[in-house]
Amino acid sequence: TSPHSRKPDWLKVRLPQGPQWARIDRLHREQGLHSVCRSAACPNLGECWDRGTATFMILGNTCTRSCAFCNVQGGTPQPLDEGEPQKVARAVATLQLKHAVITSVTRDDQPDGGAEQFAALVRALRLEAPSCRVELLIPDLLGNPEALETILNAGPDILGHNLETVPRLYPQVRQGADFNRSLLLLRDAQRLAPHIPTKSGLMLGLGESYVEIIEVLHQLRAMEVSFLTLGQYLAPSRSHHPVHRYVPPEEFEDLRQDALKLGFVHVESGPLVRSSYHAEQQFKESHHA
Ligand code: SF4
Ligand code: SF4
Repeated sequence: TSPHSRKPDWLKVRLPQGPQWARIDRLHREQGLHSVCRSAACPNLGECWDRGTATFMILGNTCTRSCAFCNVQGGTPQPLDEGEPQKVARAVATLQLKHAVITSVTRDDQPDGGAEQFAALVRALRLEAPSCRVELLIPDLLGNPEALETILNAGPDILGHNLETVPRLYPQVRQGADFNRSLLLLRDAQRLAPHIPTKSGLMLGLGESYVEIIEVLHQLRAMEVSFLTLGQYLAPSRSHHPVHRYVPPEEFEDLRQDALKLGFVHVESGPLVRSSYHAEQQFKESHHA
């Protein structure tokens, strides 16, 4: 297929509209919220919010890196907002969320990569929304073990870090990142806090082969990663890395089966799967496993 060719039918979903969208829109304005769900116009928004799951991005909206697949703006970020942990925690409480996913831009300008802000937010959430599960999806922290420890000591329920793609494609797709550094971050997380399950994810359709994906899944299991998400990469614009291929739903299902055989506790695999899709479900299954 040619890059940016028409989307197959299985990727055509209706974005939420009508009263539900209006409610979400109002909440964002009233609470000063910045959810990934809304800013990325995520196709799962209606479903996730109905289930009490939402994803928030912290540490500002400007990233010190500029990955070829990502829609977040690159550049010089603003100083950290000290009030941010409290603001997000209050929003989670107001929305009565059951499962909050917190992610961030990468802050290579910060000595701890923003780790203390993640930790402060986990602590604020425990006070403001004690029944809400907290899943963190962290950047690579340049592999800084103290920063990782700061975050784990705050006691999130799940710690995620996405490998995003296979190592061969890192130079084109994830400049500034390092496949092995990311893998070791996941290993260190399990060593430092074996009671906190880890999670990772890949986007498919960037040019990787099936064999390469399986190889990465083996590596993730060697780091004792429990949860896996596999979804279709969609280019945010024509200036981003092109979609190499639309992976058919059957292939996602084959991968899901293969991943379960490798020992992942829970696998979400499908064209519309995003890192936080069915996040609450994954947690439940891990605790029944
Ligand atoms: Fe939000 Fe993630 Fe659900 Fe999309 S999949 S709506 S980003 S929680
Ligand atoms: Fe986007 Fe993360 Fe890459 Fe920054 S580091 S450009 S937020 S994917």
